[in-house]
Amino acid sequence: MTGVNPSALRLDDVGAASKRYEVYGVTRVRIGPVTIPFPGNFLFLKYVPPIRRWGPYRELTAAHWDRILEALARAGARMTVGVTAGWVESDGRVVPFPRKFSAAAAVIRRGTESGLLEVANHGYTHCVLDGRRFRPRLFSGNRTAHREFHEWLSSEVHLDHLARAQAILQDFLGCPVVTFIPPGNVFTRDTLAAAASTGLRYVSCLQPGRWGPFPGITFVEDRDVRAMHDRDLVLGGLRVLTSLLEPGEAPPFVTVREVGARLEAAAR
Ligand SMILES: [Zn+2]
Repeated sequence: MTGVNPSALRLDDVGAASKRYEVYGVTRVRIGPVTIPFPGNFLFLKYVPPIRRWGPYRELTAAHWDRILEALARAGARMTVGVTAGWVESDGRVVPFPRKFSAAAAVIRRGTESGLLEVANHGYTHCVLDGRRFRPRLFSGNRTAHREFHEWLSSEVHLDHLARAQAILQDFLGCPVVTFIPPGNVFTRDTLAAAASTGLRYVSCLQPGRWGPFPGITFVEDRDVRAMHDRDLVLGGLRVLTSLLEPGEAPPFVTVREVGARLEAAAR
């Protein structure tokens, strides 16, 4: 099957504290033709490249965002930014993204005003707050705790987190946020119901076919989206983005909202 044309460009994990606390290491290594267990989560080992698999890495700065906007404008492209609306401090306090990273947030808002960016809801915390499970552990990885909408959390938690994220992002941007990117692609029907009830219409995720149609929601599936993480740009440089924007046969990228609106209209 081919996807829609043009497809959407998406950058996730902006403002997500998982970049600081999600730490886990390689647990299998390949030696010649075999893979063997490796204690990559033991104490400091999980922080050492190339054993380190995810964090820690830094947030994109306002200067990075200026260059991202320039690159998009030059290419005639647009991009959806998955923002996690609350930064989790190590004591479990949650600070709104626009307050924690005010300079970067101001450039992102300017990008939405000029139509180069769409801000999507990428959760309130990106992680489980209960029991401080999000914090790094001594002898194991903590990847599971860095998904937000697990089925073992109550439907109230799903709704509360989505509503808080919507309030923070919409107050800051002064416009509706209509796209939801579930952190780590983990979510349930409770999450979808909460999304629809908080004004979210488009859900960008992998394999949406498993849910069937859901009232009020249009799924934008992975084949229609080129997804990256801020980690790719922080570690790989802006080149990771600009190489995707080079002129080719495909038309320039658009936002997830634009693809969603097209799919929604086609389904009518
Ligand atoms: Zn994420």
